[in-house]
Amino acid sequence: MTDQKQELLALTPTELEDLFTALGEPRYRAKQIFPQLHRGLSPDEMTNIGKQTRARLAEATTYFLPRVRRKLVSALDGTIKYLFELADGHCVESVLMHYEHGTTICISSQVGCAMGCKFCASTIGGKVRNLTAGELLGQVIAAARDAGERVDGIVMMGIGEPLDNFDAVVRFLKLVNLPEGLNIGYRHISLSTCGLVDRIDRLAELELPITLSISLHAANDETRSAIMPVNRRWNIASLLDACRRYFAKTGRRISFEYTLIAGKNDTVQDARELALLLNRNLRTRTDTMPIHVNLIPVNEVAETGFSRADAGAVKRFAAELEKNGIRATVRRRLGADIQAACGQLRRESATDK
Ligand code: SAH
Repeated sequence: MTDQKQELLALTPTELEDLFTALGEPRYRAKQIFPQLHRGLSPDEMTNIGKQTRARLAEATTYFLPRVRRKLVSALDGTIKYLFELADGHCVESVLMHYEHGTTICISSQVGCAMGCKFCASTIGGKVRNLTAGELLGQVIAAARDAGERVDGIVMMGIGEPLDNFDAVVRFLKLVNLPEGLNIGYRHISLSTCGLVDRIDRLAELELPITLSISLHAANDETRSAIMPVNRRWNIASLLDACRRYFAKTGRRISFEYTLIAGKNDTVQDARELALLLNRNLRTRTDTMPIHVNLIPVNEVAETGFSRADAGAVKRFAAELEKNGIRATVRRRLGADIQAACGQLRRESATDK
């Protein structure tokens, strides 16, 4: 009988030291291999540890880096979309985006998703499983290694609901922030959630200075519940309460995402209602939370039947928010020619299990 093997990429430097001690090896081995692991070298590729050490590691741990199953490079803006295959054959997507201030990767948190948002491709087949901390980190490492680039920022906006995979996600956030590893600052990390209120509170307790993005997508419960089932569990009022608590605890600004769907939530009246909702709930005389709304014209997914709001409607919506004191930006569309929106490549890949 053997103990469950540990996932090598998920270990902190201290855990790695403890592991080496347990294996009868010097603790400094951890310092030797941790930076290399995070640069994408497998134990077999490391020249500074001996064969015996490698064999002991292989006995006690599993090592796997997501494999590039497909790679699409945008001719328009250099955005790279990866379909990564995991050890058990399941696939997830990650997207490497180039901005003036650096390279950001959008990663997936689960294989599939249980949240059931009506406009989203990732949830169509339900949730298959959570990603492990090593698989979360593995996406960043594998993409950086493949592209030969340093990754400066991370957005958790790919497939899955990150707060539905809480422990692995938090472990990942801490790992990716370590100076001995990828050294990505918390301020360059955004986590997007459809609104799991209890988990937002748990996250606030940790006081990680990351940016929280809330997928709001509607200004009233009737509309939100119709497109986001999670709203029946935690309605808008309870979600905005959690946002207030999060801001009070962390001092970090929260950004709201609003997907514009033609005929569902895209009128000037909807914009006015949204501005009123946010101003009333988040900006009382004592609360001065800076609010930012990110408008995303919906990406059309064959199965959902929803269509994009037209450019005029998007402009009018943004203008109405601004008029009411809410900062609004329209999400730039990177990788438009490679279906860089999440969830679509995985669905397209017929052999994905
Ligand atoms: N589960 C998390 C993160 C993944 S989705 C969340 O809900 O926030 C990342 C963002 O893309 C969310 O705001 C989500 O609502 C949005 N999204 C999903 N499908 C979309 C589509 N077809 N068009 C535009 N945005 C979409």
